[in-house]
Amino acid sequence: MQLLEQLGTISFEIGSGCNYAHSFCPITDPLRYPPEELATPLDKTVVGDFLKAARENGFKGHVGWNIYCEPLLYAERMADWISFILVSSPDTKFSLLTNGRLLDFKHKSLLQKFNKICITLYSRDDEKRVIPLLESGLLEGVSEVVLGYTWLSEYLLRHPSNIGTFLTSPDERIRVYDVPPSQIYTPCARPMHDMEINYYGNVRMCCIDYRGSMKIGNICRDPAQIVIESFIKTAQEAAKGTPPICSKCKSLWSNCAM
Ligand code: SF4
Repeated sequence: MQLLEQLGTISFEIGSGCNYAHSFCPITDPLRYPPEELATPLDKTVVGDFLKAARENGFKGHVGWNIYCEPLLYAERMADWISFILVSSPDTKFSLLTNGRLLDFKHKSLLQKFNKICITLYSRDDEKRVIPLLESGLLEGVSEVVLGYTWLSEYLLRHPSNIGTFLTSPDERIRVYDVPPSQIYTPCARPMHDMEINYYGNVRMCCIDYRGSMKIGNICRDPAQIVIESFIKTAQEAAKGTPPICSKCKSLWSNCAM
């Protein structure tokens, strides 16, 4: 089996900002990008080269654009990078995870380039704005649309069969570095679900270890093959439950729709 054959998504964080940025989100943590890891931001050439190496290692999953940023804040850059990738690899599948606040018909042609779109709704006002957009056909042609709810909405019970829904809740991951370790052995497959690469090219073990306590590599600086092998080694450690941060984690695994 090739190294990345089972990997579901590679997420390249296309920007560093969010239009929501609630206090429970790591995007508000000043240590999210440790100073020693601030290098050059990602660009489309680095992303394209890394994807080429990933494909050579068996990657067939989705390409996404966020870790904690809101990708639609960077719609123009996303459209440019997607077009760039499609030139050399027309079969690439793209996914979008968004809070939905910037969904609009002006982005329709960009949105149709995605195979999967997951919208996390944080308020009833968001729902009032997003549902009519979906019912008006904004995401027509997108194979998979999923709504993540942070409350038990009636829409969860009566949604059209072509829209998936799930219930989620803002979690305590921002506190993960401060809580004492538990004695619970936590083998976890989360890293192989989604390889997360932040705005400065640093590869993270998972969205919980957003400060990068597990050192993997940087795709702007290190050879892609070395980064991929280092990521797999870390994913194997997570599968055994040995990374220290895993002993503090209540695991997002069951909460994540992407
Ligand atoms: S247990 Fe938590 S910190 Fe460890 S790999 Fe899984 S999600 Fe990440």
